[in-house]
Amino acid sequence: MSNVQHALLVEDSATQALLTLAELEKLPDIEVEHAVSLAAALEAICRTRFDVVFLDLTLPDSVGEETVKRFCDAAPDLAVVVLTNHDDDAQALQSLEQGAQDYMLKGRIDAQSLSRSLRYSIQRKRAEISVRDARDEALRANRQLERRMRQINCLYGVSRALESPELPLRVAMEEVVSLIPSAWLRPESIGVRLTCLNGLLPGGIVETSDFMDTQWRLEAQVFAGARPAGRIEICWPESRPPEGDEAFAVSERDLVRELARRVGQALERACVQKELVQLATVDFLTAAYNRRHFMAVTGAEVQRAGRYGRPLSLLMLDIDHFKRINDERGHAAGDEALKAFVIVCREVLRDQDIVGRMGGEEFAIALPETAMEAALVVAGRVRAHLAEMELPVSGGAPLRLTTSIGVAECKIRDGEGLEACLGRADAALYRAKALGRDRVEAAE
Ligand SMILES: [Mg+2]
Repeated sequence: MSNVQHALLVEDSATQALLTLAELEKLPDIEVEHAVSLAAALEAICRTRFDVVFLDLTLPDSVGEETVKRFCDAAPDLAVVVLTNHDDDAQALQSLEQGAQDYMLKGRIDAQSLSRSLRYSIQRKRAEISVRDARDEALRANRQLERRMRQINCLYGVSRALESPELPLRVAMEEVVSLIPSAWLRPESIGVRLTCLNGLLPGGIVETSDFMDTQWRLEAQVFAGARPAGRIEICWPESRPPEGDEAFAVSERDLVRELARRVGQALERACVQKELVQLATVDFLTAAYNRRHFMAVTGAEVQRAGRYGRPLSLLMLDIDHFKRINDERGHAAGDEALKAFVIVCREVLRDQDIVGRMGGEEFAIALPETAMEAALVVAGRVRAHLAEMELPVSGGAPLRLTTSIGVAECKIRDGEGLEACLGRADAALYRAKALGRDRVEAAE
């Protein structure tokens, strides 16, 4: 292995250069290159790996402390010995502050002092580099630690939001989305979007106002059990400093997958919950509310109407001659007729109207914000729409259905309750049947 050391002498004065080079060449195992300007010196260090530089401060293209600064910026790992003309302590010290390791007075240059300064400045530079590396390493470790703490805090907040039994799912997901940016060191520039496919979230999407489509993004699929349930996307509007060779650290990618996993678990819980609620509230065959749930939901509507003095009407409906369908076409055809009946009703009704199967072929419909006159129009439409329909039924000719309907407006001002009003609608329904069926009758 060669012990030859490479030195660069930057000196614009030809006389001074001759003197210094002569002394340098007396040293064993040294190769010296000579540059006459800062530009030439900067070019030389790109070509050759030097161990030390002897740097004159007064050059044609740079003067004084600026020379040291520019050189040290360009070659931060190279030992620099400044050559000064005068015994100028202030300038010498300033050179050291700018990044030089040693200085020599030109008048006192000899082989011995050059040798000493060369060894000293190289050693000092090595020590400086190891201190700098240790400090950089500590900063990196601190940064990583800070990132992990942010990620853990974020996961903790997300878990709390998702596991809170009081929060509706949409509010919990909004909280999750707003928490995610805090997991990164520059949270202010981060946008988040959560897309849910399973219909549990009204609208299906929760996002921060600064979400946009950029190439700086992390993404993870959300699964509820084994079913695809959505997607988490995190975006950075501008390019961000890369982590090593990658755009994102491994822990950042892991974090997004972990967030997706927790959101997926919450969605799965919500799915199960929804199914349980449906089993308890919905008629399995027709998907109308069951009697109990219809009474609960409509009871709340009646109370609300009473509180605000708003109208509310009820319809009682009975499919005409339903028993005949069962007897003549079989129970499967009867079931299809019941399903079709509810679908036809929904086609005529508004979203806020409430449909309940009260038992057998008997249904009730609650119309919030609707007085008698308008309720009779709705009832007429249901009756007419049904009478027009031909229902395809497996194993036979299409069915034609008719319905009889009794209509009552709730006597809100008299404090009439749901049961009493349903009773009046039922009496009107009875009358509609007695008067020949396929007709609408208003309650007294
Ligand atoms: Mg000079």
